[in-house]
Amino acid sequence: MDIRVTSADEEENTFDTNWNDLPPEVKTRCIQKMENADRLHLRQTSKTEKYLVDVEGIGLEKKKRGDQKVENLVEKDEDAAGEYCPIYGESDDDDDKDEPDFKVRNHESLYTEMKKKIREAQELLEMRPGICQILLQKYKWSVAFLMEKFYDNPDRGAFLTAVNVDPSEHLHAVVGECQICFEEQELTGLACEHRYCWDCLREYMIDKIFDGQSEIKCIGLECPLVFEEEKIGSIVIDPEVMSCYHRLLVQKYVQNDAFMKSCPDLSCENTIQVLNPSIRHVKCNCGYSFCFSCGNDSHEPISCRYLDKWLLKGPEDQSSVWILTNTKKCPRCNAPIEKNGGCMHMTCHSKDCRYEFCWLCMRDWRAHANCNDFQRTNDAAREAMINKTIADRDRYKFYHDRYAGHMQSLKLEKPLRAKFDEQMKEIEEDGDRDLRDFQYIYVAIDALSASRRTLMHSYVFAFFLEENYSAIIFKSNQADLNDATENLSKVLEEFVNSESVGFAEDSKKEIMHKSQYVEQRRKALIEHCIEGDDNDDWVFNE
Ligand SMILES: [Zn+2]
Ligand SMILES: [Zn+2]
Ligand SMILES: [Zn+2]
Ligand SMILES: [Zn+2]
Ligand SMILES: [Zn+2]
Ligand SMILES: [Zn+2]
Repeated sequence: MDIRVTSADEEENTFDTNWNDLPPEVKTRCIQKMENADRLHLRQTSKTEKYLVDVEGIGLEKKKRGDQKVENLVEKDEDAAGEYCPIYGESDDDDDKDEPDFKVRNHESLYTEMKKKIREAQELLEMRPGICQILLQKYKWSVAFLMEKFYDNPDRGAFLTAVNVDPSEHLHAVVGECQICFEEQELTGLACEHRYCWDCLREYMIDKIFDGQSEIKCIGLECPLVFEEEKIGSIVIDPEVMSCYHRLLVQKYVQNDAFMKSCPDLSCENTIQVLNPSIRHVKCNCGYSFCFSCGNDSHEPISCRYLDKWLLKGPEDQSSVWILTNTKKCPRCNAPIEKNGGCMHMTCHSKDCRYEFCWLCMRDWRAHANCNDFQRTNDAAREAMINKTIADRDRYKFYHDRYAGHMQSLKLEKPLRAKFDEQMKEIEEDGDRDLRDFQYIYVAIDALSASRRTLMHSYVFAFFLEENYSAIIFKSNQADLNDATENLSKVLEEFVNSESVGFAEDSKKEIMHKSQYVEQRRKALIEHCIEGDDNDDWVFNE
């Protein structure tokens, strides 16, 4: 391996040697130039490597070295999107102001980053970028991992064949009959024997790309060979389709990285990259806030696991009382029997059974007499079961009504925002007020939406929560947030629906104060829940 290291005094040393033979100080200098993913990988190779990497650290601070500084500056505004509030500034209780927990990446910045890794691999392997892209995708986008695999198997041809790439630079051309349109013309294809005309191949590739597939294989039945970017480009030609293809490559790049996720909003192209792996709730620049770990809308304070249980609960719980009172099991074969008419004479639907019995006493229809004889033991147990189910259902309904109520209000805040947008447009047209004077309204609407979402999920939290001292504090926090939210909602609605938006000064103070208070209460509730998690204060029923 040819390892080139530039020392501080700019003198260049070239080592024509194996990584393992390098002196530790040279290894350290190489590690300093590595990306985190490569460091992580190297760290797993041996104890010495682990030690050397740990001395350098795998940390967020390392991300901000060298040329990455420029990118960090460019994306600075976006970085802060999660925490920064244009009116109140950064919240005081953030311990770590310089380290955001996540950042919002756009397509261009990811494409550039991906290309940079491809260039690195290209310089080391001396292969075309399209092939390096396929190789890196296979080796988790770690150049170090790829190089290691390459040196395990230094036969270039075999190495490429293993990833189904045709090593030849150009497409193979021949004149003959296209296997798709059956016309005699110039055909082309990969190292296999499958040949198609350019038009058929182009159509096939465009279909694949518009279908969202970034890996484009030969058309031949079960042929594993894949086309790399250069060959796809020479067939597809259309730059618009190719830019679509590049988007797919970036999507794959993102999917491969556990620290990145595309924004779930379908109209948004941003990607969230978490810098703190334990972070769950993130907010995209498009305004969408979601849970990084499960992909659902933000659901603080409830955990992903209990949210899942809650979402699954809905339909089953509403029908369980009905099932208990309207279905029984056939006394002979246990098949479920549904009662859908008034008649007590039941016949089992099961083809092999056809048992006829009485719905009330469950005894053989023909043999049974005195059905009015109340059998206390059986029915008491059954009644208790029904009562418990009804009590459970009422409890569920109580929490679900509140959960659904806040969800409904959250949806209604969209028209509120739209209405305010319109008013802003009018004010802009009048031209005598600075729009920035009204920014606080957007801040307030954001605070209102966030608190509705938190309240909504706080009822899921409460539903699973067993009574104890911490639960009492939680409920009091919840009540405070409820009041603060309704207060803010009322003044905001009045303000936006009033005719006097232009003279906002009077209400500005009140709205700012109320939205600030809502945000405080919301944070207090969430922090109390997190604290409770840390101290094992919560007892959840399953
Ligand atoms: Zn054809
Ligand atoms: Zn083929
Ligand atoms: Zn988004
Ligand atoms: Zn989640
Ligand atoms: Zn039966
Ligand atoms: Zn009976």
